[in-house]
Amino acid sequence: MKENIVKKALIGMTLAELETVASEAGLRPFAAKQMARRLYVGRVSSIEEMTELPKGAREWLSEHYQIGLQAPVKESRSADGTVKYLFATRGEDFDFLTSGKGGHDVEAVYIPDRDRATLCVSSQAGCRMGCKFCMTGRQGFHGNLTTAGIINQIFAIPESRELTNIVFMGMGEPMDNIDEAIKAIEVLTAKWGLAWSPKRITVSSIGKIDGLRRLLDETKVHVAISVHSPYPSQRAELMPVEKAFPLTKVMELMRDYDFAHQRRLSAEYIMWDGVNDDMRHAEALARMLKGVDCRVNLIRFHAIPGFEHSPAPKERMERFRDRLNELGVTATIRASRGEDIEAACGMLAGEERQASY
Ligand code: SF4
Repeated sequence: MKENIVKKALIGMTLAELETVASEAGLRPFAAKQMARRLYVGRVSSIEEMTELPKGAREWLSEHYQIGLQAPVKESRSADGTVKYLFATRGEDFDFLTSGKGGHDVEAVYIPDRDRATLCVSSQAGCRMGCKFCMTGRQGFHGNLTTAGIINQIFAIPESRELTNIVFMGMGEPMDNIDEAIKAIEVLTAKWGLAWSPKRITVSSIGKIDGLRRLLDETKVHVAISVHSPYPSQRAELMPVEKAFPLTKVMELMRDYDFAHQRRLSAEYIMWDGVNDDMRHAEALARMLKGVDCRVNLIRFHAIPGFEHSPAPKERMERFRDRLNELGVTATIRASRGEDIEAACGMLAGEERQASY
């Protein structure tokens, strides 16, 4: 059987990795900065366009590497302007997975909103966290995305240059693919990369503590923790990871970091009718967040097939928000976007393809 040789993508590489590539190509270390500039500022689509590099080096690079951008394979546009993009993770001449057998696509969601244009990116194909209310969780785990696979979602959409914010809230738990997530953040924020302020990036987590500690120590991005219930037994029913990573431990960790000045912490709270939307929950949530500089985002649930609970009524969400505010916790109801194309958190399911490679 013929084995495909997949050239490694340059897109997504850090400066240190590009220095290694430069050395392999017989170039001086400063060529790595020139390559980074062409990749992340010039956004070239071919190695041939890196004209600062000697012709021989470009030829060698083209034999062994590729820029690596892959256009989305499908898009769905919502009436409210939200666009859901589907990306293949593996093909005959590219590979965006560090492991796994491929055949599963990932999704990114573009959300324009007045002067903001946010892209919600995926960090894994599928997810192994198994949250009961999540379509991605139902799919199981199919592999970790490479940094190139994450950065490609940002670079390969037509609205790429308009983006003002990135949220790691698509498919997967970023802390479960922390090496690649941190590298992607480095590409987005480093001077040699896109030079974005880390304040334009929010990373969401269910609270996988080992990864979370690294994210907090090694980056300055905003953090969003999926809470959904202040009661451990109820949270464990909705999110089995509560048993391995109890929320109380996550909050203990959060108390060690300065969220008042350097970065923002938010608690994500999806609301279900008669499940977690009463005043008892609001008060327990406020108690749990005591001493943590944190705002609460209340999220309207988008019903998914096979999950027994339905969305909390609007009035109850408003009462819940008001009660939290009375208790000194800043809480807002997050606007619902892209419902008609199933673009909400927990609804991303991707597609399973017949692997043809
Ligand atoms: S909600 Fe997030 S962490 Fe939970 S299963 Fe879905 S993608 Fe994974």
